[in-house]
Amino acid sequence: MSKKINRATPILVTGGTGYLASWIIKLLLDEGLCVRATVRDKSNMEKNKHLIKLGDENKGSLELFEADLLEDGTFDKAMNDCELVFHTASPFKILGIKNPQKELIDPALKGTNNVLYSVNKTSSVKRVVMTSSTAAIYGDASETTNKPLDEKSWNTTSSIKNMPYLFSKRLAEEKAWEIVKSQNRWDLITMNPGQINGPSLSKRTDSTSIDFMLSMLNGKYKYGLPDLTYPLVDVRDVAKAHLLGAFTPNASGRHILAVDNPLSYLEIAKTLKDVYGDKYPVPTRNVPNIIMYLIAPFMKIKWSYLKNNLGIKPQVDNSYGKKDLDIRYMSAKKTILDHAEQIINDGLI
Ligand code: NAP
Repeated sequence: MSKKINRATPILVTGGTGYLASWIIKLLLDEGLCVRATVRDKSNMEKNKHLIKLGDENKGSLELFEADLLEDGTFDKAMNDCELVFHTASPFKILGIKNPQKELIDPALKGTNNVLYSVNKTSSVKRVVMTSSTAAIYGDASETTNKPLDEKSWNTTSSIKNMPYLFSKRLAEEKAWEIVKSQNRWDLITMNPGQINGPSLSKRTDSTSIDFMLSMLNGKYKYGLPDLTYPLVDVRDVAKAHLLGAFTPNASGRHILAVDNPLSYLEIAKTLKDVYGDKYPVPTRNVPNIIMYLIAPFMKIKWSYLKNNLGIKPQVDNSYGKKDLDIRYMSAKKTILDHAEQIINDGLI
């Protein structure tokens, strides 16, 4: 279904305060477009000030609206007259989860229902670009070793008890594809990025991607890293992919977004060490797997997850996304070094 978006109409971005959404908003504003971003609390300057600055400094216009994923109908007002909706809002948390249903599944799943219910009610909407994840494609790296997984694959191994964040992404994306089928006015495009890194537009450190890079530099991992690798992609490329998906009339389906050659956690650390030497307590080794098994229960990580991920490089096939969106990715090394530089320049370490 070919969809041409009228660029003069307002464009909605949900979860505007987020690490990725802020870049999507910036790219839209750079193109002089009229952007509406939903935030949870308009008076929270700590979370919103970089957005207000982006709105003031760029060609386009930015208006903030309040909306919560769990409150029915809260996206209606912001969506009015929009042809294009970017749905990025969803909690991204891997560790320290006490109540996965409440903290992850409900906002991801009910939130997607809620946003798409508003889309169904808003007759102007023609296309929704939703941020999913490779978490909706596979659960464990071991599933990918026989043959690289592509957009036909769904994560069937994560559950509320085993990696609930990954499960929440699969449930939300699955629901979105179910909802879009019930009508033919609007179409759905999903973006399925791997682990996102790269410079942040805000100084917030509670976003999981930022916390990861900060931890590489601030000594949190000084005793070593888990022997893990995830598909990696730059936040600027992910934002660009969202815009390409939105404005390419014939774009369709799911899109794995990932560089060709991901770096393991240890390779990320080595990339930093090569540039910064001993200036920061960057880790230099992996934690022995046996220790990972001993500490896993305290981190609520299942041994099966370790067995199926430690030491295994996941293989995903990024060719459809590259072709459908006509996108080339910047190198993982540039992503890591630019991210570290932003953290250092912003005085976060
Ligand atoms: P982030 O910085 O933590 O942003 C998450 C956004 O969701 C924030 O704006 C947050 O609002 C909002 N949100 C959370 N719960 C909400 C609720 N109940 N109501 C309204 N908004 C809510 O994370 P991110 O990395 O930018 O992630 C953005 C999207 O990319 C998510 O869908 C995530 O699953 C997906 N993704 C991320 C990665 C990655 O490595 N970062 C990889 C693949 C996919 P507050 O600012 O108010 O908390």
